[in-house]
Amino acid sequence: MELIALAIPFFLIALLAELAVDKVRGTGFYRANDAINSLSAGTLSTTSGYFTNLLPAVISAWVLQNFALIDVDLALFDMSPRGLLLWALALAGFDFCYYWQHRLGHEMSILWAAHAVHHQSEDYNLSTALRQTSTSFLFSWIFYLPLFLLGMPFEVFVTVNALDLIYQFWVHTQLVGKLGWLDRVMVTPSNHRVHHAQNEIYIDRNYGGIFILWDRMFGSFQEELDDEPVVFGVRKPLRSWNPFWANVQVYNYLWFDAVHAGRWMDKIGIWFRRTGWRPEEVEERYPKQRADLSTFKKFDPPLHYRVRRYVVAHLILSALSVLGIGVLFSTNGANAVVIPCIALWATLLSLGFLSEMKSYAFRFELVRLLIIIPTCLYGMNRYEILAEQQFGTVVGITLLVSLISVAAVLATRSSIAREDSNNLTTQ
Ligand SMILES: [Zn+2]
Ligand SMILES: [Zn+2]
Repeated sequence: MELIALAIPFFLIALLAELAVDKVRGTGFYRANDAINSLSAGTLSTTSGYFTNLLPAVISAWVLQNFALIDVDLALFDMSPRGLLLWALALAGFDFCYYWQHRLGHEMSILWAAHAVHHQSEDYNLSTALRQTSTSFLFSWIFYLPLFLLGMPFEVFVTVNALDLIYQFWVHTQLVGKLGWLDRVMVTPSNHRVHHAQNEIYIDRNYGGIFILWDRMFGSFQEELDDEPVVFGVRKPLRSWNPFWANVQVYNYLWFDAVHAGRWMDKIGIWFRRTGWRPEEVEERYPKQRADLSTFKKFDPPLHYRVRRYVVAHLILSALSVLGIGVLFSTNGANAVVIPCIALWATLLSLGFLSEMKSYAFRFELVRLLIIIPTCLYGMNRYEILAEQQFGTVVGITLLVSLISVAAVLATRSSIAREDSNNLTTQ
């Protein structure tokens, strides 16, 4: 995890550079609302992980301790030629397991329910890379147990896991075209664009993390074709900027089908069969529209520029608070970050409502701001996590930001209401 934390500043710099190129060239690869939603989903995934990643870690450590077939000494993983070879083997082994975890993540309904979050963006840029699920802790770890059975030290697993994730960041871009032989060996922007497509020919292709060789070996490789431009997104679009709904959307429609299925076998089977499978009677009673890509339109509800400005400012503040929460978690554990995380999640939910300009969005935001102040005071006081001086600074800043935000929300709300009434009178 340490490695990922170190990589975050580079991620952000690369993202800003890509955004600048997009603006200069006018390529339209970025839309504020979509990027905000991706970053919100990533923020939710990181912070919910403080509470959910413990279970997979405990199970993996237990398997390693009790069932490892080989006793591998961590000291072997040094910087000698033999050590580097072992690191390379560990990375390849991890990437092989990742391939199967990712492939089943698309091909089995209950696993797709977790992974779909990464694919809901209808744009494709570096912010899409940070768009991660919050429920992979449920099953993903199962695919990596063979590594622990082979005795992979936990520290090595954590490192290669991080390297695999960090590698995948750069491939989420449309600014890099085809790269020749590299496209046939490694996962690259071109072949990962195919993976994020909803075009028939591209569906369920290119699952690799670092090496695309696995796809070529196991028959799931598809090259990006010049005459088939990629349409990004999922077949059942999210059509929402709510990061929580993004995480439950697929579970929700699987649950709907399970409730309405007649046979018990189907009620259970729905979760474990091929993604998209539905019992016949459910399909007849509640038919789902087939996606027509020729008329595909991105989800893009109108967003007032003042609200967009407000949302972007609060997303930046949220990103900063994630860094603070990360430090708090590493020094004081999960208990210490419960209340800051709840406050952050309420912010993400509110930013989602504001991005969609929901009728209740301003009211929700005002309530959030008025609750957040006493909550911060209570939380930090109770856990005595911060030194008195830090406590004063954090509370002071929170108080100031919240008060400015209340004023900004009230001003934005009345300015939009004025514009609306002006529009009505001129019509
Ligand atoms: Zn995927
Ligand atoms: Zn991706």
